[in-house]
Amino acid sequence: MTAPANRRAARFRGEAVIDFTVDDLREVAPGEVRLRVDVCALCGSDKRLLAGGSAVVPGHEIAGTVVATGDGTSLPVGTRCIVYIPIFCGACDQCLRGQTNRCLRLRELIGWQRDGGFADVVDVPERCALPVPDDIGQDVAVLGLDTVGTAAHGLRLALRTQDEPPRRLLVVGCGPLGLGVVAVARAMGVEAVDAHDPHPGRLALAERLGAGTRVDLESENQYDVTVEVSGAAPARAVAQRVVVPGGAVLALGESNDPYTMPATPRWRRTDCFTVRSFYFPLAEVEGNWDLLRRCGPALRDVLAHPVTLPELAQAFEEFVAGDLLKPYIVSGAPA
Ligand SMILES: [Zn+2]
Ligand SMILES: [Zn+2]
Repeated sequence: MTAPANRRAARFRGEAVIDFTVDDLREVAPGEVRLRVDVCALCGSDKRLLAGGSAVVPGHEIAGTVVATGDGTSLPVGTRCIVYIPIFCGACDQCLRGQTNRCLRLRELIGWQRDGGFADVVDVPERCALPVPDDIGQDVAVLGLDTVGTAAHGLRLALRTQDEPPRRLLVVGCGPLGLGVVAVARAMGVEAVDAHDPHPGRLALAERLGAGTRVDLESENQYDVTVEVSGAAPARAVAQRVVVPGGAVLALGESNDPYTMPATPRWRRTDCFTVRSFYFPLAEVEGNWDLLRRCGPALRDVLAHPVTLPELAQAFEEFVAGDLLKPYIVSGAPA
């Protein structure tokens, strides 16, 4: 494998304008590895950068292969990896316990504050390049990040609040992360997983992943755990309404609306856990590979639409319109 001499990268100029630059590559920095990007998935959160522009190359759901290495690294060229985006310090209290997503000195995320994966090449700190097991392909491995990684971490936190495994779990919002929660909850052994989304096509995908879709959104006290994945205020209200006393509301959805709690007599007179989570810690990666072995291929089949880097603007257009659930930018032939 010869190391590339330059890099083609997408630049988000704002107002949905995307163009490309070709930049000469310097030597890889000490402690970093250079990856050929095999897959970089589009994420709903990228829409903010598409509208507002980005100073760095966006793209934060990356699977790649090591093509060059900096001083002081040990990953061999040819290693397939997924990219863990928080640039954690490795030395604070949280990092030392493996809770790297809670790093107290976290300043940068790859694809947000430093160059990400909408490019044919990306440099990352070696500690953020997580080797992929041989039996998992790059198109499934990449789901170990924002889809399965984030879903599994949120669910693990929510389940820790419960004395018994949940009998019934509801997912509100069936975008890629919501569908990830459906698949992971099933793979974790939750017997009855229901899902709701106003979009019938998305709901059908949740059904394909094993969710029940006849859902009563009005009656109180139905679900041990509810997972809100849309960020919309009405969906948050549903998640709070249908949870049983003592249950848990997992708030994964993101929007600019504040999280609120109702001031109703019912809410005042109930026990309830509200759980919020961010990404996942390195300590959970091993367990996430096992979950991916169980549910990853089905999720990929439901979610992924391969496109190439020059088609990025078109893919975003269809993504924003809701026609594509999770476009994958693929380069070369992902394993
Ligand atoms: Zn994402
Ligand atoms: Zn730290």
